[in-house]
Amino acid sequence: HNALIPKQFLECYYSYQNAHQRRYLRQINFLAQLSFLSYFFADWFLLPDIAYISGVTRVSAVLSIMLLNWAMFKYCKNILTLDLLLPLSSAFAASVWFWLLHQSSSPSVHYYQYASVIFILLGCLSIQVRFHPSILTALLISVVIIAGVVQMNSAQQTIIFLLVYVPILIFSLYISWNNTLNARRAFLRSMLKEWDRHLLRELAHTDELTQLSNRRQFELIADKMIHAWPPYQSICLLMFDVDYFKRINDSYGHDIGDQVLQKFAELARKEMRRADVLARFGGEEFVALLPETTLEDAIMIAGRLRKNIESHPVCIGNDIKISFTVSVGVSKLNSDNINLHSLIKEADIALYRAKQNGRNQVASFDLPTI
Ligand code: GH3
Ligand code: MG
Ligand code: MG
Repeated sequence: HNALIPKQFLECYYSYQNAHQRRYLRQINFLAQLSFLSYFFADWFLLPDIAYISGVTRVSAVLSIMLLNWAMFKYCKNILTLDLLLPLSSAFAASVWFWLLHQSSSPSVHYYQYASVIFILLGCLSIQVRFHPSILTALLISVVIIAGVVQMNSAQQTIIFLLVYVPILIFSLYISWNNTLNARRAFLRSMLKEWDRHLLRELAHTDELTQLSNRRQFELIADKMIHAWPPYQSICLLMFDVDYFKRINDSYGHDIGDQVLQKFAELARKEMRRADVLARFGGEEFVALLPETTLEDAIMIAGRLRKNIESHPVCIGNDIKISFTVSVGVSKLNSDNINLHSLIKEADIALYRAKQNGRNQVASFDLPTI
């Protein structure tokens, strides 16, 4: 409802606003300076007695504020400060303007002073990031304006001015509050969108049961890896298949079958290095791509994992232990034929050989069964 930003996201909110509002704030500051300058023509027409002072004062005030703004927008990274630049320069401009009105003896001063509501409108409506500081700057602008009006008018004229000024102040503060609320909402919405996108990406790339990469993600990463430049010295692929898995499902149920797959994932993950890509290829088949690994090392890793799995049964209940084994096919990337599908095919052929030879063993496409 109030789109409150959690404390830990405040910095993130400010950098989001910095990215999205900086340009707008720079432009609106620039436009405000130009409009302050262009009011010289109104002075010239309504207060001809101070036209010269007005011209000199307005040009020097605008030049100094433009210079300040240029430096602030170039070097200041704090969006809260940038957000307050226009309200503060409005307070400064209001004081300059009332000083000019004081210098004039033109009768137009009495109705021209109503134009001072522009300062409070500019000061409040430009606020985009945080509302609370804008209350202080609105107060500052109001003090400058009301002090100027009180000095030039009778009590009755001041009251009439306030009858115009106060509602405008309240409305512009309300709009300013609403603007900052919308800014927070836009930020929260963008965060939720990013989160959804992240979640969807994760879901699309992860196997739900084992939390390993799925086949699509594996093929994507593995393909990139084998075509990486500079090329890896040696890349091997391991293909695992749980032995007699159908029997486990049939004897203990699908749930236990699922636990076996999770156990495999847990044990295999421990065996892998950071650079290795482990994935569930489908059903009870898993693959691992091992970069910078010789065929001998890949066979050794596969053998170690095979033994580890053999000696780590899945425990169900208090004393029921379900042992399972895996067969592994190993292939090595052929530098003459850099092709992921050939690498997978060769590992699959080796795996078939391991199955044929009695299961619970490692077979290599290039070497006799180990
Ligand atoms: P082999 O030793 O020759 O590999 O025999 P197997 O029984 O493991 O091979 P088969 O391919 O006949 O059986 C695989 C079974 O895996 C069939 C399928 O119902 C089961 N399966 C596939 N995906 C899942 C899953 O996500 N969970 C469970 N529990 N079973 C699955
Ligand atoms: Mg299978
Ligand atoms: Mg199987």
